[in-house]
Amino acid sequence: MEHCPIVSSMSSRLGHQGHWSRTDTTPDIGSRSRDRSRGGRVFAHGASTFAAFLLVLLLAVLPACAGDARGGEGRLNVVTTIGMITDIVERVGGDRVVVTGLMGPGVDPHLYKASAGDVRRLSSAEVIFYNGLHLEAAMAELLQQMDGRTRTRAVTDGVSPNRLLTPPEFEGQYDPHLWSDVTLWMSAVETVAETLAEVDPEGKEHYRENAAALLEELEELHEWVRERVEELPLARRVLVTAHDAFNYFGKAYGFEVEALQGLSTATEAGTGDVQRLARLITDREIPAIFIESSIPRRNVEAVQAAVRSRGGEVEIGGMLFSDALGDPGTEEGTYAGMIRHNVNTIVGALSSGVEPDRVAETEGG
Ligand SMILES: [Zn+2]
Repeated sequence: MEHCPIVSSMSSRLGHQGHWSRTDTTPDIGSRSRDRSRGGRVFAHGASTFAAFLLVLLLAVLPACAGDARGGEGRLNVVTTIGMITDIVERVGGDRVVVTGLMGPGVDPHLYKASAGDVRRLSSAEVIFYNGLHLEAAMAELLQQMDGRTRTRAVTDGVSPNRLLTPPEFEGQYDPHLWSDVTLWMSAVETVAETLAEVDPEGKEHYRENAAALLEELEELHEWVRERVEELPLARRVLVTAHDAFNYFGKAYGFEVEALQGLSTATEAGTGDVQRLARLITDREIPAIFIESSIPRRNVEAVQAAVRSRGGEVEIGGMLFSDALGDPGTEEGTYAGMIRHNVNTIVGALSSGVEPDRVAETEGG
């Protein structure tokens, strides 16, 4: 696949930057733009207008390359955005699909802009899965244009609106970080299976069986998370992170969640936010706060410095994988592994100084 000479030469002339796949160790970090504005509504006009222009050009030549649409050996050619989606599509699709994930480890989906190569990959896909709810804010226009030409589906589509959160700081928009509650991500698995079966009806049974196996695993994962967090006394269940990616986690597993930046990293944290968190941490004696793999650590370090200047002390409790998976081959390189890593990191750091008998007292309560 992807050997159409016209498309290849056009992409390379327009500056194809390579892409991320499970075997590629050079994620497209060129798209981590500093182009920020308030409220997560960054549509990155320059880049997306360029991308839209490129898309029109590509679609004009694609009929000549129709054979490229099929993945290798007749497999379905699927393109995904974030790693958490790539992982569940690979699991549900199994050997009937070839999956290309656009966003690799450490990539911030709120700011990610499609490269010329991404537009080419999206244009030749048979199915596109993305998160939706404005997570891929800088790709929104492009994804909208793909819809109608290619089966393009937001994996959060199947979630009942009454389970979606609308935190006040996001001005009426839904919080897009559904994967931090395992039961909500189970709904994404069902949407993936249903969509693959619509596009490839012969594989319906295959997708159904794979999805059922994955759902069973995720059900067990959800129960494991519930049990693991009960090791923490209730008063210790305060999670302070770089950006607001853990609201669903907090709601599902009983944590109070505080973050330096809002729901989208497109909103810059101000010194007022740093001081507000530093006050909270010292007042509540919170032992640890957390950095995130897709966000510069200096933001959280600024909070730590502010706590110290108030005479307090707080640890950096470790790195959480909030909006991107870890490297392939590591535990956090899969969705389930990412959840386990995050929960172990959070419980480990927040239980610092908690005496074992006090932990035992709070268990089951
Ligand atoms: Zn986020």
